[in-house]
Amino acid sequence: MRVLIAILVFIGAGVYWFILDGSTPKNADYEFPLAQMRGLIDAGDGPLPTALNVEIISTDEAPLLAAHAGLHFEPFHLATTSFQVKGDNGDIIIGGALDVGLFDINKQNKAAAFSNDAFNRMIAGMTASHKTLVTHEHIDHIGGIVRAPDPAALAPHLMLSASQIGAMASLAVNGELAAAYKTLQPADLSSPRLVAPGVAVAPTPGHTPGSQVLLVRLNSGQEYLLIGDLVWAMKNVEKAWGRPRLLQYIFFDDREDRAEVQRQVRALHDLSVAEPSLILLPSHDKDWIDGLVAADKLGENFQ
Ligand SMILES: [Zn+2]
Repeated sequence: MRVLIAILVFIGAGVYWFILDGSTPKNADYEFPLAQMRGLIDAGDGPLPTALNVEIISTDEAPLLAAHAGLHFEPFHLATTSFQVKGDNGDIIIGGALDVGLFDINKQNKAAAFSNDAFNRMIAGMTASHKTLVTHEHIDHIGGIVRAPDPAALAPHLMLSASQIGAMASLAVNGELAAAYKTLQPADLSSPRLVAPGVAVAPTPGHTPGSQVLLVRLNSGQEYLLIGDLVWAMKNVEKAWGRPRLLQYIFFDDREDRAEVQRQVRALHDLSVAEPSLILLPSHDKDWIDGLVAADKLGENFQ
């Protein structure tokens, strides 16, 4: 009997540890360098951008518990996305999503869908952009860049860090990176910097070594913080509650720095309370993004 109880306790502890626990430290001292990013935007010259638009490249569905630890079996609607900041001296594109080949390998659900039209608009937007960046170097954020139809046309527009560039070869068809990408010069994104009027970027390693957030301020005064995959669902921010540990062992080839990400999730929660008018923009929460489009806070499709 004691052995049985010991086994049950052991299993229970495992379930808790791997699936149920998403807790974040209460007194996390993590701080996003927002003041510094705002200072860079304040000091920049040139007119602020006029609009922020989104392309939804693909949609999929998974149980919410994949994004938000706990017994949440209701569906989480997820999207891969790319964002376009409309500027006077050309647009800034943030996020390269993935191509249909990588999508097919990675889809979770029968109802998953890929939009060729959206992908083509994203590629056209990136190729015409002033600069194209990514929030981090995972397959669903940089895969579309790696597998773009004309790498030579896109390469001059890319603004990627060394760790982001380093992840590209593993996503190339047959592992063979396009010639135009082999000579990419890494951008120094190791400290906050201004990308264009109204757009600042700052490193936030944790989810991946090359993870970063971008602050966008439109000429309306509305600000957005693009947070990539620090969380997948806005519910993570609302509840200050992270992903299940189990995911680290299934999804991520290189495990994320969970302790750091949990501190960031707590900081995002605190930020959302302190600054309710700042719009947080995760890459994958389709319902949240749809809500922003419906509220005219995000433009639908690249223009
Ligand atoms: Zn992602």
